Amino acid sequence: MNSSYDLLIVGGGAAGLTAAQYGARANLRTLVVEQTANGGQCLLIEGLENYPGFPDPIGGMEFTNRFEEQAKRFGAEFLVSGVQNIEKEDSVFRVQTGEGKITTQAVVLATGAQHRTLDVPGEERLSGKGVSYCATCDGPFFRGKKMIVVGGGDAAFDEAQFLSNLSDNIVLVHRRDRFRAQKALIERVEKNPNIELRTNTVIKGIHGESTMMGIEKVSGVTFQRTDTGEEWTEDTAAVFVFIGSIPQTQLAGDAEKDEAGYIITNERMETSIPGLYAVGDVRTTPFRQLVVAASDGAIAAHAASQYIDELADQRAEAVAV
Ligand code: NAP
Repeated sequence: MNSSYDLLIVGGGAAGLTAAQYGARANLRTLVVEQTANGGQCLLIEGLENYPGFPDPIGGMEFTNRFEEQAKRFGAEFLVSGVQNIEKEDSVFRVQTGEGKITTQAVVLATGAQHRTLDVPGEERLSGKGVSYCATCDGPFFRGKKMIVVGGGDAAFDEAQFLSNLSDNIVLVHRRDRFRAQKALIERVEKNPNIELRTNTVIKGIHGESTMMGIEKVSGVTFQRTDTGEEWTEDTAAVFVFIGSIPQTQLAGDAEKDEAGYIITNERMETSIPGLYAVGDVRTTPFRQLVVAASDGAIAAHAASQYIDELADQRAEAVAV
């Protein structure tokens, strides 16, 4: 790893990896810094079926590997490390990573978003013991058992559909009487005999019981109807929570954000800080999809390349004067 790059990308999900491919292919010295494994939320996808050009479902891991391979083929470099902070001095960004300070001319934030929690009693204590935020990861542990899915968006419907292949007793609960998921996903779930849909219902608490080994695991939940206020408790083996996400904007500094905390960009993925770009789930966008994230990455790298050329012109002019 060098200590100076043209383009530094924080986050190795679909948006970041596409920015890396386009940046490296435009001859920018490009570095992707990712603190865990590349892939982001893509790694949670069992069978990706709506990415154009892939008519057969492809696993999220294989899909990520292909993105990474392609970016590397054009010369992008990768660093596994956390990024502590980003400072801009004149036109240079100084990025503090766990492996030392790196300077760069432009930064792409592709830091994504983290799952939101219900914040009800029992959720945190039983997380990993029946409370889960990833059906692909944890669903198989509860094969044949009753599982509750919370949420009314695409993720809840997608994941309920996935879990219905493991059990015929899936209950999807949503706080309102209307879902925000795509119509096609709703229709598929409505026809699925293994999934029961319950609207106007929230979870008030998650309960656990000790196993023979003395380890606590989920045993039930207390529900409440939002229209009548009625409360009752039901047994369940697991609770899968898919109620949206929180953008990871800790490195965005003073870049402008919307009321939900997502970074605002223009159509070139430029933030309010020149040279700083935001792509994928961390930015305000009307449609959070892999194909959109990849498109964001391509646009940001292209815009960054033009920005870096302009910086070079300005420096040359300053020297000439
Ligand atoms: P989302 O679209 O923001 O939906 C979150 C859902 O959780 C909403 O129905 C919301 O209810 C509910 N919710 C929020 N806070 C809650 C709380 N405290 N208690 C109970 N319910 C709560 O999030 P998402 O489903 O994770 O999707 C995120 C993005 O990824 C979306 O843009 C989506 O299109 C995309 N995505 C796409 C696919 C696909 O195309 N196959 C799959 C997964 C995700 P309200 O409706 O009442 O606000």
